[in-house]
Amino acid sequence: MGTDWRVPPGSTSVTPSEPILSREQYFDYQSTTPVDPGVLDAMLPHFREEFGNAHSGEHLFGRRARKAVDLAREQIGLCVGSDPEDIVFVSGATEANNLAILGTTRAHTGTRDTIIVSTIEHSSVLEAAAASGYRVLPIPVDGSGFLNMEAFEQALSDRVLLVSVGAVNNEIGVIQDIGAIGQLAHTAGALVHVDAAQALAALRLQLFDLPVDFVSLSAHKAYGPKGIGALYIAPGNRKHLRCLLQGGGQERGIRAGTLPTALCVGFGAACEILTQLDGEEFRRVAALRDQLFEGIARLSPRSELVGSMAPRHPGNLSIRLPVEDARDVVERLQLDIACSTGSACNSGSELPSHVLLALGMSTTEARRVIRLGIGRFTTAASIDRAAKLLSDAIQDVSACNS
Ligand code: PMP
Repeated sequence: MGTDWRVPPGSTSVTPSEPILSREQYFDYQSTTPVDPGVLDAMLPHFREEFGNAHSGEHLFGRRARKAVDLAREQIGLCVGSDPEDIVFVSGATEANNLAILGTTRAHTGTRDTIIVSTIEHSSVLEAAAASGYRVLPIPVDGSGFLNMEAFEQALSDRVLLVSVGAVNNEIGVIQDIGAIGQLAHTAGALVHVDAAQALAALRLQLFDLPVDFVSLSAHKAYGPKGIGALYIAPGNRKHLRCLLQGGGQERGIRAGTLPTALCVGFGAACEILTQLDGEEFRRVAALRDQLFEGIARLSPRSELVGSMAPRHPGNLSIRLPVEDARDVVERLQLDIACSTGSACNSGSELPSHVLLALGMSTTEARRVIRLGIGRFTTAASIDRAAKLLSDAIQDVSACNS
């Protein structure tokens, strides 16, 4: 008899013997966030009776789906300070980064042959830049994680087509001065792309006022669903972009493929909630984050913050622990709290994070770093508990090492 491969309805891939942690035990918000219940409620009808194709305008099913997508685009535009028309739906920030970098380099017919990136960009930026065939100039950051502005200014020239710098780093949470970077890049005649995948849960964006041309967004870093994101294209910049997918000409020819209505709606609902919160959540989360760091520093005084504390993602802590390998601590905490040693994108890799090395750490130092991400569903009680559990784990691991 063959294996029955069918998964019964309602089951998950977690085996019954594996414990299920609660949302309060989740400390990895930069990897992904839980979907907000309001977001889920908004999405559910689009998996049921509202199943129309938003591109089938000849009947009511299609037109209702179109309306839902249009509303989502408006909610996103309002949240990030852009015209809804400038929001192009894609599958996530990985695709948005690829579209911005490969799309602009393929569209360019002039003599500019260089892309500037920072050394702490997400791999989807670094690898797209490397794959573009253009000369790539990586600009270093200082020990706190900020772009070295002198090196950046020196690298700018009339050979630079595109500058791609992330707004909020996913590992160390440091926030770059996009206004200053964009201004300098524009003065040199370069296009500006910003990977803002982590920004929705970290700051209020006003894209229209920023000197930027392309901005990548991701829903699942801000309580929306996975598998949806957007590329913001500032007015007049469509001509600088060649589409990467050939097909039905959706999204005004920029991104072919049937729009996933439910995911678009979920992204819109997540943005609507952020707009309503109006930054209030950032202050609450930052206070919890500070409480967590103080607790850890008190109980385990040799722990050190990695990256500048301000400006920083309110829910991010990256900490160098007084242990040889932070993975031992994460492992020991498995049944109590979920946290990580770095970005989920690098997980499984034995190599230390390129971000930590770019800050000037040795491989040995980088192995000591843990990332704790908190957010909307973190409670004050869970913070105190986590600080205690973490310091106990640090002590256990240090005792085993010595
Ligand atoms: N850029 C940054 C800074 C990120 O944190 C992530 C997600 N880890 C991505 C890009 C990729 O986003 P997505 O998962 O939406 O493809």
